[in-house]
Amino acid sequence: MSADPAKKPDIPVIQVPRHPQWPHLDAREKAALKDRIRAMMRERNAVLVAHYYVDADLQALAEETGGCVADSLEMARFGAASEADTLLVCGVRFMGETAKILNPEKTVLMPDLAATCSLDEGCPAGPFSDFCDQHPDRTVVVYANTSAEVKARADWMVTSGIALDIVRHLHARGEKILWAPDKHLGHYVQRMTGADMLMWDGACVVHEEFKGFALERLRRLHPDAAVLVHPESPDEVVDQADVVGSTTALIQAVQQMPNEEFIVATDDGIFWKMQQMAPNKRLISAPTAGEGATCESCAHCPWMAMNALQNLEQVLREGHNEIHIEESVRQRAVGAIQRMLDFAASR
Ligand code: SF4
Repeated sequence: MSADPAKKPDIPVIQVPRHPQWPHLDAREKAALKDRIRAMMRERNAVLVAHYYVDADLQALAEETGGCVADSLEMARFGAASEADTLLVCGVRFMGETAKILNPEKTVLMPDLAATCSLDEGCPAGPFSDFCDQHPDRTVVVYANTSAEVKARADWMVTSGIALDIVRHLHARGEKILWAPDKHLGHYVQRMTGADMLMWDGACVVHEEFKGFALERLRRLHPDAAVLVHPESPDEVVDQADVVGSTTALIQAVQQMPNEEFIVATDDGIFWKMQQMAPNKRLISAPTAGEGATCESCAHCPWMAMNALQNLEQVLREGHNEIHIEESVRQRAVGAIQRMLDFAASR
């Protein structure tokens, strides 16, 4: 079994942007802006699909207009089932790309095409393909947080909600795995399944900031709180969890567990949906960089923060920021995604 990171492929240094400062809107301005967006959505026959990590106003607007608020897999499924001509994807770029891969006939627009992800940026297609070529005996499994080109090189795509089941299945068939890009999620899956996994050395800049020692202190202050952790977090945080799971699993835990308090180690954009589903529960953000917290370690993804009502309106008005994927790449990428969807449907 190999838990070591890959032998240093050419991984770029990731430039983490500052959080954008959106102009404050009072209630009247916000209502007027939402009305304009609704009118343009009707004209375009558009539907809004938003991730749990984006701004609460966007999540609310998605629900008010018949769209959906979900994790990346459900966002893609919803888009595929929708009869809308245009999918407005509020999230990060790989989510828009996945929507386009599954819905090539639809127009996919995003508020900001520069909204990427440290996992996606840290796994460029060229070096990743070379890495795969060096290990032809391994089944290539990639996380959803990757570019269309990386998915096109993979045998399977997985989301955090189904990664354990798929890796268990492959392990039971005797397959050795090349895993990319998130090393923390990979280590968690490896520990739970015992599979032979060779890891790419990527990480989420948001989840990697959660600190085990600071979490221990916070738990002592809230001994009755349940600890909910997304598996993109480091091992010392995962090891303290009452529940480790995808965003959807963590929301369900808040609804279903009897605890009144929850310490949550994932992007705090999820609090809007958690509070909506369980209004009487108290949510506490897990500590990030402790005493030395910076803008980059505030438990909110700077790329997700690039989505706002203001640039959504602009995109609808001007029709720019459309996702395009070369057809040969799309056809190869759809195979890895479809394999996961078929596996999910067969269970
Ligand atoms: S929270 Fe992490 S994994 Fe999610 S989009 Fe941001 S950088 Fe990527």
